[in-house]
Amino acid sequence: MLSIKAKSITPSITMSISSRVKELKSQGEDIINLSIGEPDFTTPEAIKKAGCKAIEDNITKYDAAAGNAVLRQAIAEKLKDENGVHYTADQIVVTNGAKQAITNALIATLDPGDEVILPTPYWVSYPEIIALCGGVTKVVKTDKATGFILTLEDLKKHITAKTKVVLINNPSNPTGNVYSQDELSEICTYLADRGIIILADEIYERIVFDEPFCSIPSISQKVYDHTILINGLSKSVSMTGWRMGYTATSQKLAKAMAGIQSHLTGHSCTITQAASITALKDCENDIEEMVAIYKKRRDFIVRFFQDWKGLDIVPPKGAFYVFIDISSLRSYLSEDLSMSFCSEILEQQKVAFVPGISFGEDDFVRMSYAASMEDIEQGLNRLKAFIENLKK
Ligand code: PMP
Ligand code: GLU
Repeated sequence: MLSIKAKSITPSITMSISSRVKELKSQGEDIINLSIGEPDFTTPEAIKKAGCKAIEDNITKYDAAAGNAVLRQAIAEKLKDENGVHYTADQIVVTNGAKQAITNALIATLDPGDEVILPTPYWVSYPEIIALCGGVTKVVKTDKATGFILTLEDLKKHITAKTKVVLINNPSNPTGNVYSQDELSEICTYLADRGIIILADEIYERIVFDEPFCSIPSISQKVYDHTILINGLSKSVSMTGWRMGYTATSQKLAKAMAGIQSHLTGHSCTITQAASITALKDCENDIEEMVAIYKKRRDFIVRFFQDWKGLDIVPPKGAFYVFIDISSLRSYLSEDLSMSFCSEILEQQKVAFVPGISFGEDDFVRMSYAASMEDIEQGLNRLKAFIENLKK
């Protein structure tokens, strides 16, 4: 009964681990969930009020496939003011979360067998979405030694006549690395010169701690012309459940994606869209407060690993993840290293991490610090206890 596509899909491991943890917690288990990448803050009050008002005002009917016109204008203004990139409202398509933005983009651009270059470690859903859209994933390994930054040299080795898209996720899930403007410029100019599409997933753009964020289409007109910009409000204003994402592209591509979306989902939820106008216009202070808290947590975690010296990390510069190197534990755990690490630590110490294998790197596990300081501290102490026991 199942199609080849359906049989080949692995459900999102990040979502399934988190559901399992919630289930165990509801049964009274004392589990610390450092698995899912979901802000631990509630959605800001002003956004919630705007959502309630939208219901009261009966903004509950079908709208344009590309999204509410006022919202698309607000997104265009945000992109101009914050990122220095000029888009008009008709270049924006509002989607059901960034996941659908990526899906729309790939349906609109890939023909069967087209290759998508994906630097490792990559976010779990990319290869699955690429496969669902008929593309072929070609991974390019990046190294811990270079901070998991894709180099032009490595990229060049993987480009073929079939390369249609290169996906760049900046800041990165799962490593928290952030590209500098120069690093992006070198890679993206090379791609644009060859007519290759850059799929720029910038969903974590607001969560950067050390250096200013550079949005890919701001690099040059040529790069802008070849970029499909993916963004959304799930992470920056803690709106994961509202399902709010968007793309910014050429008008031609926007029209094609809106057409695709008109058949798939119609459009994103009208209540969410109305509330998102408030999120974009009135929540700067909320965002800054959340980012300041993530930074404190990041600093605490980096200090913890520096003092402990038990396992190694590359200090993250953005997002809310740390990628922990567990390669030194190979002789203590079974061959499926990151899976066995995650199941053992969950069993013995009741802490949930995500196995690196799901991001294409088995020598690592991902810890999310979208969790309270108390949970982070306890989680790290339990990690330390786990390693000490393992090595006994
Ligand atoms: N891109 C990255 C890198 C992510 O981590 C996520 C996590 N959810 C998404 C896209 C999808 O975001 P959304 O929840 O808005 O679909
Ligand atoms: N992107 C988040 C994560 O990586 C949320 C879960 C998901 O969408 O897969 O944990």
